[in-house]
Amino acid sequence: MAETAQVGDGGSEALATLHRVFGYEAFRGEQEAVVDHVVAGGDAVVLMPTGGGKSLCYQIPSLVRPGTGIVVSPLIALMQDQVDALRALGVRAGFMNSTQDFDERRVVEAEFLAGELDLLYLAPERLRLEGTLDLLSRGKISLFAIDEAHCVSQWGHDFRPDYLALSLLGERWPDVPRLALTATATHATHREITERLNMPSARHFVASFDRPNIQYRIVSKTDPKKQLLSFLREEHPGDAGIVYCLSRNSVEKTAEFLSRNGVEAVPYHAGLDAGTRAAHQSRFLREEGLVVVATIAFGMGIDKPDVRFVAHLDLPKSVEGYYQETGRAGRDGLPSTAWMAYGLNDVIQQRKLIQSGEGDEAFRRRAQSHLDAMLALCETVHCRRGQLLAYFGQDPDPAGCGNCDSCLTPPETWDGTVAAQKVLSTVVRLKRERGQKFGAGQIIDILLGKRTAKVIQFDHDQLSVFGIGEELTETEWRGVARQLLAQGLLAVEGEYGTLVLTEASGTVLRREREVPLRKEPKKPATARSAGGGRGERKAKAAAAELPAELAPAFEALRAWRAEQAREQGVPAYVIFHDATLREIATVWPTSVGQLGGISGVGEKKLATYGEGVVAVLAGLEGPSAASTPAAGPGAGPAPHSGEDDWPEQEPEDWE
Ligand code: ADP
Ligand code: ZN
Repeated sequence: MAETAQVGDGGSEALATLHRVFGYEAFRGEQEAVVDHVVAGGDAVVLMPTGGGKSLCYQIPSLVRPGTGIVVSPLIALMQDQVDALRALGVRAGFMNSTQDFDERRVVEAEFLAGELDLLYLAPERLRLEGTLDLLSRGKISLFAIDEAHCVSQWGHDFRPDYLALSLLGERWPDVPRLALTATATHATHREITERLNMPSARHFVASFDRPNIQYRIVSKTDPKKQLLSFLREEHPGDAGIVYCLSRNSVEKTAEFLSRNGVEAVPYHAGLDAGTRAAHQSRFLREEGLVVVATIAFGMGIDKPDVRFVAHLDLPKSVEGYYQETGRAGRDGLPSTAWMAYGLNDVIQQRKLIQSGEGDEAFRRRAQSHLDAMLALCETVHCRRGQLLAYFGQDPDPAGCGNCDSCLTPPETWDGTVAAQKVLSTVVRLKRERGQKFGAGQIIDILLGKRTAKVIQFDHDQLSVFGIGEELTETEWRGVARQLLAQGLLAVEGEYGTLVLTEASGTVLRREREVPLRKEPKKPATARSAGGGRGERKAKAAAAELPAELAPAFEALRAWRAEQAREQGVPAYVIFHDATLREIATVWPTSVGQLGGISGVGEKKLATYGEGVVAVLAGLEGPSAASTPAAGPGAGPAPHSGEDDWPEQEPEDWE
């Protein structure tokens, strides 16, 4: 059969390209099926988690099929880096966007028309211009890849009107295969992409959404900046990472606080001018160990492989958003952490935002259900990963993942029925007896019997519920209120975030149901206190699990890489990923030929850097018998602790 033969040939050519150009051993998960399908000329809708490996799904077919692969991407600021990374692999890539001047664009156009480009990156707004369409008609196109395809969804979190115009590509080029790729996985978005891009006959590929190397942890928020600092100092000293905050103000303050306390951090939000934003993004990509504190404006499409942690200081609005943001950690497959501090005020603030926000009732309801799913994730006593995968319609391991806080330190629950009744009764009494509504702070002060100025002002010490809650601490009461809000047993109203009952509150007050609650941990779990292999972890993740004898080689290779990157003005990972350097240090190739067998070392890189790498190793004392590959990585003693280098004094902002 002709078709099978074609697929088969394309398949082996694809695999050969994977080896030769990218230096990778094998396709991952769905990649092979997608590549085969597109090489054979089919349309595809591809859902893969962030870091799952979407790029190869269109890069390989673009190399295998005749003509240029057109990649539509909204990420103008990243195109230069993407193209640089491809050129470093020997791929003929170019881009066209508004950052170029006329001459630069002319060069790219000429290359395209001459058939000298394997890949051409374009911003979606370009494709609305007749001039661009006309140019494309005059060249040969191998495929269209529509990256970040969820941008077509009007209900999504990142709608771009320019994406709607992309449906015409199919009409204008009916014979050119199209791929739509996204990391946003809900069925609604999936359907919308297919409809709006007019791809009814596309095959759908859904990869596993699991990112096993990311450890998910959600801690109870007490003093977020201080908690963040301890997390960074204890677990990620010197590591690159992203901290997400909701407001520009908290972004600025947090970046300042971290910098003042010895963690190099820069802010990123839409209020900064474009030049500053670009400079900070570029530093993040190029430097090692920089922390970016950002609103959600930062991070889409950033393919820095060695982001070791993503921290949230505020509650994301949806599980989709959370998963996309946390997915930016650990693209290189090395251990990484998704850490979030979450508390009562987050729930109140988000509920308030939805109520006072724009949009009609349907929009509000949708926002509400997104938030509810996010809250359910925060409050679950079960495996976080399990909950995430189930949310994306995939089957989790019923035994748990072993790499989230719930699995590492199973949370305790307690019967919070009476506590819940106390909170709800206080709300009821204020309403019935005084015609008043108050926020959580006042309710808790009343329960605790605190005679604050505000309590005295309103005579709340005369209420029968005054002081009936002294058995719990303030933190614990905040935990109760938070969980009641999360479970919909209590609601927030108005601009002051006052607490009111919901329909479901009655069932608690009438003792028709129990209210199991998650216990507030006395001391929040860390990877260290959680035990297990990672508890031993002290040095930077990049060097972690590498035998001590190999650390000098790894560091020497990194230093060599930094120099190369500086000379060429590209991010270090464009030269080689950390994972590749680790493998090089482990295998210790003594010839260029041996180096070629290592994952991430393709033909071009071998030719460019082979001798340099071998020379770096030749200049070092060889590995001892204990750390030869036969002994395996991790066989040596634990890596040297970098902890001693860290200042002991309390950070300035601590109370
Ligand atoms: P996505 O676009 O889905 O977020 P990327 O395409 O950036 O993910 O890939 C994530 C990382 O995984 C990249 O560093 C890439 O080099 C690496 N990668 C992808 N596919 C493979 C593979 N088959 N073998 C080894 N590494 C891979
Ligand atoms: Zn788990």
